Amino acid sequence: MSAPTSRPVLPLRPEIVGVAPYGAPQLDVPYLLNVNENPYAPAPDVVEDIARDVASAAATLNRYPDRDFLALREDLAAYLATESGVTLAPEQLWAANGSNEVMLHLLQAFGGPGRTAVSFAPTYSMYPEYARATSTTWVEGRRAEDFSLDTAAVAAMVAAEQPSVVLLASPNNPTGTALPCETVEAVLAAAAGVPGGCVVVVDEAYGEFRRTGTPSALELLPAHPNLAVSRTMSKAFGLAGARLGYLAAAPALVDALRVVRLPYHLSAVTQAVARAALRHAPALMAQVGSLRDERDALVVWLRERGLTVADSDANFVLFGLFDDRHAVWQGLLDRGVLIREVGPPGWLRVSVGTPEETAAFKDALVEVAAL
Ligand SMILES: *Cc1c(COP(=O)(O)O)cnc(C)c1O
Repeated sequence: MSAPTSRPVLPLRPEIVGVAPYGAPQLDVPYLLNVNENPYAPAPDVVEDIARDVASAAATLNRYPDRDFLALREDLAAYLATESGVTLAPEQLWAANGSNEVMLHLLQAFGGPGRTAVSFAPTYSMYPEYARATSTTWVEGRRAEDFSLDTAAVAAMVAAEQPSVVLLASPNNPTGTALPCETVEAVLAAAAGVPGGCVVVVDEAYGEFRRTGTPSALELLPAHPNLAVSRTMSKAFGLAGARLGYLAAAPALVDALRVVRLPYHLSAVTQAVARAALRHAPALMAQVGSLRDERDALVVWLRERGLTVADSDANFVLFGLFDDRHAVWQGLLDRGVLIREVGPPGWLRVSVGTPEETAAFKDALVEVAAL
């Protein structure tokens, strides 16, 4: 008989001991308004195009895919030119399996042991996970009461921490608030003062939903070799299941990501799906317009009922404030509406759905919160 031992069976890295995998609840209810997906499934002509191109790709699956996926990067550059009016070379684009993986590449290249990444709460809850996965020290400042960034506080923090990476979501999740270009430029100026260099990442996962007049950080790329602007096909593009995130930056920054990526990380199937969907960008953009209108109307509706609502440039709305937000969340769920209990205490976040889904949410909220 072997003596009982206290030695662990698995040599877990200390930082993941007892940590649960990240993820929002995936519950089977009629109204899924919790993870900011596009509520509209791809249209039949998009499905047909994707299926045809996947069939062609399938016929070549004995071979490894194009490691540098230049054709896809060209298509992404063309899309951004139309969407944001910013002209980029394909060498300035990078893509991976969701912007989650793009972020991981960034931290693999620019973070790591002995280095620091900073961000400002409340923000995307995955950021500390990218830092943990790459053994990068994680430091979190705070946004102001209205969820804006105090540029003096950011500059002080950057000077104190000397990070190699600053992560900013704009529009931010879970608040929906976007950063003015002057704020991003102030952060870039602070980053320029870090002796070892500092990459500023602006996560524009919700960029397409920004209101008229809200700029994209893409416009700042020409002047800033240490800026990376990340985007995704998961949200506005309605392609969360395809897993395609991408980034725009100076060619030298992109070259660093090519070093840390695993070879052939983007399958031929993924490349085919993304390229087929990108051909339908104009139709998708029209749909984004209607989601934006739906969002603006929802903000007005919530405010008219006396609730506090953060300005939103995204496809979701953060609202409150509730003494017992969990009871509100549960009450909605009991009525078949799943939203997200996230953000500072008292707030809840709801994704913009179809008009029918939004109506179901409103009806349920009126009952639960006695509006
Ligand atoms: C949803 C979301 C993403 C997108 O992640 P993917 O991996 O591309 O699906 C990125 N950043 C933020 C802030 C998000 O909310």
